Amino acid sequence: MSEPQRFIIDPRRIRLLSEKQDGQGAVIYWMSRDQRVRHNWALLFARRKAELMQQPLVVLFTLAPTFLQAPLRHYDFMLKGLREVEADLNALNIPFVLLQGQPEREFPRFAEQINAGVVVTDFSPMNISGSWKKEVARQLAAPLYEVDAHNIVPCWIASGKQEYSARTLRPKINALLGEFLTNYPALEPLPSPSAYQPVDWSDVYHNVKADRNVPPVEWLKPGEKAANECLESFLQSRLASYGKERNDPNAGATSHLSPYLHFGQISAQFIAMRVSKSTAPEADRKAFLEELIVRRELAENYCCFNNHYDSFEGIPAWARESLKQHGDDQRDYRYTLEEFAAAKTHEKLWNAAQRELVTTGVIHGYMRMYWAKKILEWSETPEQAFETAIILNDRFALDGREPNGYAGVAWSIGGAHDRPWFDRPVYGKIRYMNASGCARKFDVNRYIARHEGYAESKKQQNLFS
Ligand SMILES: Cc1cc2nc3c(=O)[nH]c(=O)nc-3n(C[C@H](O)[C@H](O)[C@H](O)COP(=O)(O)OP(=O)(O)OC[C@H]3O[C@@H](n4cnc5c(N)ncnc54)[C@H](O)[C@@H]3O)c2cc1C
Repeated sequence: MSEPQRFIIDPRRIRLLSEKQDGQGAVIYWMSRDQRVRHNWALLFARRKAELMQQPLVVLFTLAPTFLQAPLRHYDFMLKGLREVEADLNALNIPFVLLQGQPEREFPRFAEQINAGVVVTDFSPMNISGSWKKEVARQLAAPLYEVDAHNIVPCWIASGKQEYSARTLRPKINALLGEFLTNYPALEPLPSPSAYQPVDWSDVYHNVKADRNVPPVEWLKPGEKAANECLESFLQSRLASYGKERNDPNAGATSHLSPYLHFGQISAQFIAMRVSKSTAPEADRKAFLEELIVRRELAENYCCFNNHYDSFEGIPAWARESLKQHGDDQRDYRYTLEEFAAAKTHEKLWNAAQRELVTTGVIHGYMRMYWAKKILEWSETPEQAFETAIILNDRFALDGREPNGYAGVAWSIGGAHDRPWFDRPVYGKIRYMNASGCARKFDVNRYIARHEGYAESKKQQNLFS
């Protein structure tokens, strides 16, 4: 294979997190957010570095025993995906190591042990990931490269500041899309297998300290293969009705790809390429790509340039002031976190959305906005509402604990990426939604019926506690 075909990676996708020189020693890809073998720019970069430097390549994952209160549902989805990563890497003669413990302690130790010459990791705008990387970069003798393998247009290239809205980010992304929405080169196998120990998965499961009251879901299979099957079924049977039906929670027209995207088990760039080339009507492709590219990358931008992305403090000043002015307004209903979690509000529609979240690990996108806005309406204070929505989303949603969730809550409750609307009780200038609006869009009774009754069995009741 000729040189340019073998390695086509835009250098703008890569940045150096520490002022250190490449050393003679193994190349480690510290896999974190992009947990896949195919279509992964960070892995491709590490592979190439190893080849150029004539050094071994190791892929390493550090598993923290707890991660932002992630329950078993999330650990299970992730670990099954990682098992597949190990097997797929093995087939390419690339060793996979899983280190248990705190990343900022375990990783530098391992790097020193194997005399790492270069370390590559993938990009995340989350604060916790940033602080791990900072500490690891400080301790490593080798340089730490960060590669944006999650976004189509690398987050720091799309914009250098927090964007106001999709309207301001869209032209910036569109101007660069032609340069970044490209095909991936193949990941070449290493010439011969190496002598690393396979991961002892039962030991890993045993050591995870996750909340077991939120069990794995059964309707969505984890892993890179399942992610690709999910994409194929969306392309074949749902994309063509996406534009018209995506806001109907009964239609099942959306892709269900968000958990796979969250764990990096599929590449957004690959999805966008497949969708762009599909024979579905242009309007459907456009509507989908707007969500996958512009809205998703707007959420990344929000978290990248706003340290308070997961709190009330992070929302725009106009929204904060307006909500504070309405802080003492009479609320017709007030619920605690526990009551919300247990789907014990007066409203069947809201309870149905909460049950959908608790039992399936997702809420349909349209209902997700409604769900969050009612938490604002029925909480003691807007600050408390913000916190409740984040806690519930992160605890139960398979795609939770990520930029889309923080930006979604900040949009619904805090007016982020939105504009001020006319002033009203409790909401202030935040955009309002009500149940009759939902009823105009879809058959709410059908949606309620589908999710009613889940809390009846004792087993399920535990889930809501
Ligand atoms: C309060 C609230 C909380 C949310 N929490 C999350 C979350 O924790 N994780 C998450 O991935 N999404 C979240 N979203 C965004 C959106 O609801 C989900 O991405 C979408 O419902 C996932 O279903 P899907 O994959 O079938 O979406 P599709 O409609 O098929 O869209 C394809 C992809 O585009 C992206 N996307 C779609 N809608 C949005 C959006 N509004 N903002 C940003 N990206 C979008 C997602 O990556 C999604 O997988 C939240 C939205 C709100 C209003």
